[in-house]
Amino acid sequence: MSFQNTLAYAQSQDQADPLRSFRDQYHIPQHNGKDTVYLCGNSLGLQPKSARAALENEMVKWAELGVEGHFTGDNPWFTYHAALAPATARLVGAKPEEVVVMNQLTVNLHLMLVSFYRPQGKRYKILTEAGAFPSDQYALESQVKFHGFQPDDAIIEVAPRAGEHTLRTEDIVNTIQQHGEELALVMMGGVNYYTGQVFDMAAITQAAHGVGALCGFDLAHAAGNVTMQLHDWDVDFAVWCTYKYLNSGPGGTSGVFIHERHAHNPEIPRFAGWWGHDQNVRFQMKKGFTPMPGADGWQLSNGQILPMAVHKASLELFDEAGIENLWAKSERLTGYLEFLIKELNQPKEALEVITPAEPSARGCQLSLLVHQNGRQLFETLMANGFILDWREPNVIRVAPTPMYNTFEDVHRFGQFLAAHFNK
Ligand SMILES: *Cc1c(COP(=O)(O)O)cnc(C)c1O
Repeated sequence: MSFQNTLAYAQSQDQADPLRSFRDQYHIPQHNGKDTVYLCGNSLGLQPKSARAALENEMVKWAELGVEGHFTGDNPWFTYHAALAPATARLVGAKPEEVVVMNQLTVNLHLMLVSFYRPQGKRYKILTEAGAFPSDQYALESQVKFHGFQPDDAIIEVAPRAGEHTLRTEDIVNTIQQHGEELALVMMGGVNYYTGQVFDMAAITQAAHGVGALCGFDLAHAAGNVTMQLHDWDVDFAVWCTYKYLNSGPGGTSGVFIHERHAHNPEIPRFAGWWGHDQNVRFQMKKGFTPMPGADGWQLSNGQILPMAVHKASLELFDEAGIENLWAKSERLTGYLEFLIKELNQPKEALEVITPAEPSARGCQLSLLVHQNGRQLFETLMANGFILDWREPNVIRVAPTPMYNTFEDVHRFGQFLAAHFNK
């Protein structure tokens, strides 16, 4: 890819961007009366302008129909989750019956671990990435303890090699093979939250299955960011949140994928609730749980319509833009960010990009390791209308999302860094 470090070039790229109109579909936070350079969609995505009307629609329905809203209107609440399944499936490369939107991420991770972490004999260990998002670490730790094991023994972490920041697929695969018969489950991020590294989910799944273990992913940083083929990759289960790249609001609902070979198996142990019970007989209120076929059979409670309405509005924009098109833009936009950082000519001791350089191993986030006064640089950026995030001990995460960020955003960020480092 060839790029130029000029505002005119950045603007010409925006002009030529077939997805440029999507920015207007989002509210851009303001700073001194101007659009911020919002590079934080990896933490909380921006609000689609259509979200308010979608929410209002359900509020009106509730006001006007009360309980009747469960069964009337365009999207009756009773089956609201089903209206989200096709777009959700397209986003992660699944069949509609393999996905369901419900609860929140860590809750869903626990539900999946109940079903898919079932230690037996000496096969009781979980392999994960070192430095996984803390909620995932706590979930795994508490699950192995719940089954009577010690986390130090039952959780195997794969770490980067000395002097490296990211994991090598061969190291993940070798560790899986090395622990072979002890492994019950491989469960890791699809994209590491700290480094932005995209893991080779297909290869990891294959390696896990090769030793007789199951394999699941937390896609919090992958969903809406990278293209995936969960069904074809044969992943057993996955979970993700919808408030990061999926722009569905703080604390928003969450998505779940369960491969059809499990999803259609009523024998899979699970924690059950009435919303996972066969909907044709749900209101007979009888004893004896019969799961709905597909991922729907893991639902516990009746759907959270308000966050789901926001999510539905957001998914419509993803469908309109197309995740493949977003991905194509993302590669260039992130490539441009990388180019501008290289132009700074900083020694590794001052500024280092720890996200992999290969486009297939990263999404739209670059993690900048700032060795000196990183926190101060981060705060200066924030005070000047650049919204990013800081992760201890010394990383600034920068995420130009293809949905609403522009080449000009990235250029402005590059200019700011240039002024900072070359003063
Ligand atoms: C953001 C994130 C979470 C947050 O969990 P919630 O249950 O949504 O609060 C968990 N895991 C990963 C990998 C994340 O990136």
